[in-house]
Amino acid sequence: MSLLICPLCRTALTHQNKSQRCANGHSFDVAKEGYINLLLVQQKKSKEPGDNPEMVKARREFLQAGYYQPLCEAASLLLAPLNAQYLLDIGCGEGYYTQAFSQFIPHIIGLDIAKPAVQLAAKKHPNTTWLVASSALLPVTDGSMDIVSSLFSPIPVAEMARVLKTQGYVLVIRAADTHLWTMREALFGEVRAHQPDKFLEELATHFELVQQHELRFDLHLPQQALKNLLAMTPYVWKAKPECRLALEQHPNFNTQAAFSLMLLRKVLH
Ligand SMILES: [Zn+2]
Repeated sequence: MSLLICPLCRTALTHQNKSQRCANGHSFDVAKEGYINLLLVQQKKSKEPGDNPEMVKARREFLQAGYYQPLCEAASLLLAPLNAQYLLDIGCGEGYYTQAFSQFIPHIIGLDIAKPAVQLAAKKHPNTTWLVASSALLPVTDGSMDIVSSLFSPIPVAEMARVLKTQGYVLVIRAADTHLWTMREALFGEVRAHQPDKFLEELATHFELVQQHELRFDLHLPQQALKNLLAMTPYVWKAKPECRLALEQHPNFNTQAAFSLMLLRKVLH
């Protein structure tokens, strides 16, 4: 069974000769790195949508240094007991978490709109299916996935429900209330608490909450790690440049990460 569908006509894609083709003659190249580009021109809001190469590089360095390893382990502990065969990771980036899930789930699709991130992922981890694609219309077969994950990424609720098997699971991870509080204080002066629970309301149309956990851990960041964290987070775009520069002068900076991990299950309609 093909797991992928054509983003133009929604029929099954099959692998033929270094490309993916549907019965209606639409064809999508498989890149030399092994990922498939299923992003349509009309789905691009800019020439290079998603995270740019500098953000991707900063995130890769930060994650590879292990600063978010407790989160990666907590997410894996939630998913491993589900004995899943198929997982779709929406907004996979360069595949840091996706790769961890592949330690216990045999068939994984990582999807991201940012080509530079997916290129990196595909180079490093050739055994996963990597897609450059929009999350608004998932190019994945109905009822084929056991788990759909979205870590700090879009949550296309109806599409997630469509691609999941009956009673499939969704893992959503978001920043919790006090995430990076002291860092945000330095950037903005006044800080508002994140409200991860607001996503549960949207999800309630198709999913019921099974488990919710909060995870908090300290971050002791040398200067380069702090710079990487700033470069990979969307906060920075809203901060005054002088605040960011002042913050980046710290040879060491202490803050605390806080995450909300939400595991939900598809409800029958
Ligand atoms: Zn087609």
